[in-house]
Amino acid sequence: MTEMANCARCGASTPASRGTYTEEGLICQGCTDAATEKDLDATGKLVDAEDYVPGSLPLGFLAGFFGGCIGYLLVHQFAKGEDTKKGAKYGFWTGVVIGITMRALSA
Ligand SMILES: [Zn+2]
Repeated sequence: MTEMANCARCGASTPASRGTYTEEGLICQGCTDAATEKDLDATGKLVDAEDYVPGSLPLGFLAGFFGGCIGYLLVHQFAKGEDTKKGAKYGFWTGVVIGITMRALSA
């Protein structure tokens, strides 16, 4: 099954695997071809659709928060999505801060 997505530039329906991910979203093959080198530099990272894994920020957060450093390390070892890793980092540090606060309050 081909996942369809709407081009962020022209709005045309395009197969997700044929498009190009930019910071503005998925753009279709036509818009990718039309984009100049300058455009691509301006939009920043262009990621091959096949390799693009957005990940899950909340999922990473939970892993880092409840899993502590083990959850954090596991996410970094196995998660592909950047957002999952970012979430794990936030979750981990949130857990650390809460841990320190609790210790300080109970002391
Ligand atoms: Zn387009």
